[in-house]
Amino acid sequence: MAVHDADDDPFEAQRATVDDSIRRLFREYGLDNTVEYAVGILASLVARLLDLIPPLMLGLAIDSIFLQEQAFSLRFVPDAWLPSTQEGQFALTVGIIAGSFLLGAVFHWLRNWGWNASAQNITHEIRVDSYSQMQRLGMEFFSDKQTGELMSILSNDVNQLERFLNDGLNSASRLIVMVIAIAAILFTLNPQLALVALVPVPLIAAFTYAFITIIRPKYKKMRATVGSLNSRLENNLGGIQVIKSSNTERYEDDRVDDASMEYYDANWDAIWTRIKFFPTLQAISGVGFVLTFLVGGYWIFAGAPGPLTGTLSVGDFVVFITLTQQLIWPMAQFGQIINMYQRADASSARIFGLMDEPGVLAEDADTDLVVEDGRVEYDGVTFGYDEDPIVENIDFTVEPGETAALVGPTGAGKSTVLKLLLRMYDVDSGAIRIDGQDVRNVSLRSLRQSIGYVSQDTFLFYGTVRENIAYGTFTADDEAVVEAAKAAEAHDFISDLPNGYDTMVGERGVKLSGGQRQRVSIARAILKDPEILVLDEATSDVDTETEMLIQRSLDDLTENRTTFAIAHRLSTIKDAEGIVVLEDGRIVERGEHDELLENGGLYAHLWGVQAGEIDELPEEFIERAAKRQARTEAGDD
Ligand code: ADP
Repeated sequence: MAVHDADDDPFEAQRATVDDSIRRLFREYGLDNTVEYAVGILASLVARLLDLIPPLMLGLAIDSIFLQEQAFSLRFVPDAWLPSTQEGQFALTVGIIAGSFLLGAVFHWLRNWGWNASAQNITHEIRVDSYSQMQRLGMEFFSDKQTGELMSILSNDVNQLERFLNDGLNSASRLIVMVIAIAAILFTLNPQLALVALVPVPLIAAFTYAFITIIRPKYKKMRATVGSLNSRLENNLGGIQVIKSSNTERYEDDRVDDASMEYYDANWDAIWTRIKFFPTLQAISGVGFVLTFLVGGYWIFAGAPGPLTGTLSVGDFVVFITLTQQLIWPMAQFGQIINMYQRADASSARIFGLMDEPGVLAEDADTDLVVEDGRVEYDGVTFGYDEDPIVENIDFTVEPGETAALVGPTGAGKSTVLKLLLRMYDVDSGAIRIDGQDVRNVSLRSLRQSIGYVSQDTFLFYGTVRENIAYGTFTADDEAVVEAAKAAEAHDFISDLPNGYDTMVGERGVKLSGGQRQRVSIARAILKDPEILVLDEATSDVDTETEMLIQRSLDDLTENRTTFAIAHRLSTIKDAEGIVVLEDGRIVERGEHDELLENGGLYAHLWGVQAGEIDELPEEFIERAAKRQARTEAGDD
């Protein structure tokens, strides 16, 4: 489990409002599993009671068959039904013991089914629900730190719940049944000796309580260290290229060694406490055993000791000794049950914290977007990821079928402007309208259906090339997929892959180059055939030759389609009907290529540098860029 500062943890505030999370868990998810729970509880009860029959029968056999000191009689069974011969009684005893083991097996099976099935059902539902809630969260929840937090909720916390719902409830039911049933049996057989035999019980309870209090902070420390160890490992795996190229393997060895050592120490501290706990527990129960043996044994051969009165049979004595032993281990688990409960409580609070998170994009509208011409209008749009505005007063219109190119230095806000169109984020003020419809007033589904997005870093899902192209247009037939791939100049390289369109790509599949991935993503957009197209550095990752090929296919694609394009290589957008030049989140110039060249502003200079006409940007631009850089870096601290 990862360690989280309040800063890293976007659900902190929400979580604080979740109370009684375990109760809520059962209310919202448990009720669908009433049958499983009923079976679990009843079967636990019966199975545990059946477990107690063999020792009781042993006691009876000693007194009534072997020593013949008492009449052979069974509670709840009329004496007339019982066999009168020694052989008959012995056979019945063996039969009952065998029967209780057999029947016991059946009920233990049922008990396990009940607890396991309900635990699996509930954790499955929770996993699916919290995943689907996670998908609805706004993009601000998906920065690196926070995806760690989300991942930890979806896996660790759900597993923690599973452990409690399964093992925790199972042990708890055993503990309750055993303590009540055994205490009842002992008190019925001989209340005085029962008091002696049960002396260790409160001792064990108190001792276990102390154990939990001592070990809890140690577990917490352990989780924190395992969290930082995992972060370090994850980080180093991701950065392995940098590590190798900067020759810092030794340094990283040491850092991992340190992190692992911290975990070792914390873990050992907890282990050491546990190592001491269990033998001590055994010692306490040993004291109980010795005490019972001492008092009971003396009672048998010398009569009631001290203040005690009455008689004690050998059979009852044996029952006492065996049953008190049976009580010790369920008692010893008491601490673990509490521990599991507390962890599950914390975990379900985290899960419900996520589920209650209102940070999903503002209410999704019911009306669908209807794109008729495809006119897109930015009307005084201002937006910032946090308090500071990143783009300000963005005001421009793209006429139907035209291409608007966004140009400007890195960090100027080009991607941000386009993310607002897709409603990855909502504008802080102003509005973005498509054919007069504010993007906030139409359903996200219809909005994203109408916009094709090709971004600079294309993510491929683990699956075949075909699936990746058809992703989002699942109904497309094979022919259409191939057509789209051809149009994106991707068909040739795909045909050369080991299994053509059925080659597995993505995380665990064949690695495609950046340019190949981009062409797959362009094919995806071509197949989707959206009314509006967003190309975010769509051809940044390919060599000049491929770029020309792609450019040709893009020209087809963007023809008569409202298009937004971000490109660093200005040659790719010089034919755009409108070029919007951004600097520092503001529009500084607008117009067509030729006009902008005449203006002699930022665009003309950028063009000059790229075309090799001038060597570098004039001093004033460089100064501004340096200032901007300094500001960004200061902001990062
Ligand atoms: P461009 O596409 O022009 O390079 P971006 O729109 O990507 O610019 O970024 C504009 C500014 O917004 C940058 O300063 C960047 O650091 C900041 N920014 C981008 N994405 C985020 C985000 N998810 N959270 C916070 N700041 C961001």
